[in-house]
Amino acid sequence: MSVAFDEPGAWGFCRYCAFEVAVDIDTGCMFVHTRLKNWLDERCYGSLMEPSEKPGPEAVPVSYEDVIADAMQSSAD
Ligand SMILES: [Zn+2]
Repeated sequence: MSVAFDEPGAWGFCRYCAFEVAVDIDTGCMFVHTRLKNWLDERCYGSLMEPSEKPGPEAVPVSYEDVIADAMQSSAD
């Protein structure tokens, strides 16, 4: 499937790598993408997940462990 580069719905913010990544318009989920870690490309956790709201220009990547910790924290409330 090809998507126009200027299609706004085709891009979403991935909080795991803090980048704008391509989104599958049909599913609303981000395509599989990689991020650089220790000089190696690894599959980003955000692959095939729904994009996040863009937090701002100084966005920093969120680790998967942080997200799990937050989820456990909020479910304990
Ligand atoms: Zn990502």
